[in-house]
Amino acid sequence: MSVARFLGLDLGGTNIKVAIVETADDMPLPRVVSTAQHATHAERGPQGVTDRLIEVGTATIEQSGAVDAAGLGVPGLFERDTGRIVLFPNLPGPWPGHSLRDPIADALGVPTALINDARAFVLAEGTVGAGRGCHTLVGLTLGTGIGGGIMIDGHIQLGEFGTGSEVGHQIIVPDGPLCGCGNRGCVEALAKAEALAELAGQPDAATVYRLAAMGDAECLAAINTVAGYIGIGLANVVTLLGPSCIVIGGGIAAAGELVLGPIRDAMRSHVTLAPAERVSVVPAELGKWAGAIGAALAGRNQLDVRAR
Ligand SMILES: [Zn+2]
Repeated sequence: MSVARFLGLDLGGTNIKVAIVETADDMPLPRVVSTAQHATHAERGPQGVTDRLIEVGTATIEQSGAVDAAGLGVPGLFERDTGRIVLFPNLPGPWPGHSLRDPIADALGVPTALINDARAFVLAEGTVGAGRGCHTLVGLTLGTGIGGGIMIDGHIQLGEFGTGSEVGHQIIVPDGPLCGCGNRGCVEALAKAEALAELAGQPDAATVYRLAAMGDAECLAAINTVAGYIGIGLANVVTLLGPSCIVIGGGIAAAGELVLGPIRDAMRSHVTLAPAERVSVVPAELGKWAGAIGAALAGRNQLDVRAR
C-alpha cells in the first residue's frame, strides 16, 4: 500500500489555515488528517507574509511528519508559470510581481502549487465534500465577491492560459454595473453581497437574509432577483459543460434553502438542452477548512500533471 501526504496552506487576510491530507491506493477518498489555523500578520507585507507561511508550513511538517508535496491557496490571481502574484485585492502591501511560490517550495523542500482560494474550495468540495463522486462539477463561493471553479475528473480546469474557471465573471447584463474585473454586468457585479444589500435597501447581506427569513417581502424579492442572475450564469455552465453537481458555499450560502432554492429554480428554468432536474444544487460541507484541504489536493494534483 502506498500512502502519500500533502500539506495545504490557505492564505487569508486574518488567518492561515492548514490541512494535512493523506491518500492511499486502497482508500476510496483522500483523508483529512489534521487542520489548524494561525494568524497571518498581513500588515507585515509580502515578505513578512511569505516568511510567516514558511514558518507555519515548516512547523506543521515537523509536527505531523514529512509530506510529498504542498499547495498554497491564495486570495487573488497569480502567473501560473512563474508563481508571481498578479493581484491580491484584500491584502496590504506591494503584492503585484512578488514571487510567492518558489521561496515557499525551496524552504519546504517539496513541489508546491499555487491555487486561487475559490478554486481550492471547489477542488475540496468536489473531492471530499458535498460534490464527492461527481465527475463534472461547478462550484461557487458567494460573498464579498463571487469566486468559482470547474472540476472535471478530479482536476480544476484552467484552460490554456491558466485563466479559466471564472464562473462568476460571465456577463449576464451587457452594460450592467461595473465589476472588479473591469467588465460590466458580470454575475459578481450583480450578485455579490454588497449588490444584494443595496437592492434590498439594507446595510448588509446578513440583514437581508435575517429579514427574508422572517418573511420581509422586499428582502425576499431582492434575493430572488440576485438568485436569478446567479441561476442564469449556472444555466450557461450547465448547457456548456453538463455538470451533475453544483456546490455553493461562502457567507451567503449560510442562508441555506432561502438562497439555494431560488438559484436552483432559476438555473433549471433557463436550461433546455440538458436534464437540469438531474443537476443537484447543494450547499458546501467542509466549512472553513475547504480552502486548506483544496490547497493540499492541489499539491497532490500537480504531481499527477507532472507525471502525464
Ligand atoms: Zn467581472
